[in-house]
Amino acid sequence: MTTVREPAVTTSEELSVWPASTAEHHRGDLAVGGVPLTEVAERFGTPVYVMDEAEVRERCRTYRDAFPEAEVLYAAKAFLCRAMVHWMAEEGLGLDVCSAGELELAVTTGFPAERIVLHGNAKSPRDLETALRLGVGRIVIDSPSEIARLAAAVGPGGHQKVMVRVVPGISAGGHEKIRTGTADQKFGLSIADGYAQHAIGRILDQPQLELTGLHCHLGSQITSVKPYLLAVRRMVGLMARLHEQHGLVLPELNLGGGHGVAYRPGEQALDLTALARKVRAELSEACAAAGLPVPRLIIEPGRAIAGPSGIALYHVLSVKRTGDHTFVAVDGGMSDNPRPALYGVRYALRLIGRQSTAPTAPVTVVGRHCEAGDVIAADVQLPDDVHPGDLLAVPVAGAYHVSMASGYNMVGRPPVVAVRDGHARLLVRRESLDDIRSRDVGL
Ligand SMILES: *Cc1c(COP(=O)(O)O)cnc(C)c1O
Repeated sequence: MTTVREPAVTTSEELSVWPASTAEHHRGDLAVGGVPLTEVAERFGTPVYVMDEAEVRERCRTYRDAFPEAEVLYAAKAFLCRAMVHWMAEEGLGLDVCSAGELELAVTTGFPAERIVLHGNAKSPRDLETALRLGVGRIVIDSPSEIARLAAAVGPGGHQKVMVRVVPGISAGGHEKIRTGTADQKFGLSIADGYAQHAIGRILDQPQLELTGLHCHLGSQITSVKPYLLAVRRMVGLMARLHEQHGLVLPELNLGGGHGVAYRPGEQALDLTALARKVRAELSEACAAAGLPVPRLIIEPGRAIAGPSGIALYHVLSVKRTGDHTFVAVDGGMSDNPRPALYGVRYALRLIGRQSTAPTAPVTVVGRHCEAGDVIAADVQLPDDVHPGDLLAVPVAGAYHVSMASGYNMVGRPPVVAVRDGHARLLVRRESLDDIRSRDVGL
């Protein structure tokens, strides 16, 4: 089945999921941050990840503008490197980290530790030791056993601000594996079964732990405001009960992240302006009804800042036609982007660098790894004359690709390049065989 291709001009709809700086360049090329993608591929090789610095910064500003009264923490697990740490510091965001590694990278890059929140359903002794040594702003308690462990590590003379991760019993998110608001998953302490209340009572018994508020994170890739409003109601409900029981007035409320983005043209992103307006209204109403002061809001977007700011570039290595399938294999795959294999996500991938007049045909773009599930994009339309050497670009590749990259097949993890004002610079270099060999120390 082939369809007649329209004139090879990129439509604004097609570009709607690309960074705002994206512009048509000659010969079917696109420029991002003023740098043609063909140039990036040539200079740094492929696969390569490109981050549009201005897009990252603009997305941070959009959050600061929409939530001027709130603390905005970037969820580092979406993608972190030292440049990202700098950009977040300069844009006035805090950081949400979930390991000693993310935390140390941020603090050793100069990020103020008091603006960092540590998460994790199973924090290791090293995570906690690093957090206390570096003076992390808050630690989010995720299990009952953590309370005594943390209190002991802080010591009787010490002091640490903590929050509690609460499971509000709300199902939201783009895929079962990224829904974290209900009780049947590993994160947090449930309101419904009383675990959250019980844990809070035990925290209050530890004088060196200062409980500053409640935290919840419903899931990821959420595109509707409604679950967040329900979360506000449930969280304020719990705050009201804690006020009755313990006379507790909590100054902070952390609603987590999960703000959805469009991966393909026509898909819906979460409306941040509506989210801010409705959450604000719901929060003041619920607090007024409960006779509580409005807590300071904290939000933790990851994907919505990094995702649409990044692009993955691959070269086609082979094209294989089998039965009624065409497989276009590229030089990366599940080792740099495990998301299709994990969640079955879909991308609006496109050909870059030449204008084809061939009709388009449905193809499956696959990776180079030794797994049949190593698919980058199933059933996408590409020009029928796609051939080895062609360059393909995947938009909305900035979050949960490089940060989830693996060592599978010893291909080496890809480099990350920043583009800005017509210049490209290397942020993270490609992992070499020497890097891999240097860890392999036994015989
Ligand atoms: C993953 C995570 C986030 C960020 O989620 P996104 O979907 O990337 O916005 C925020 N807070 C917590 C606790 C998380 O685990």
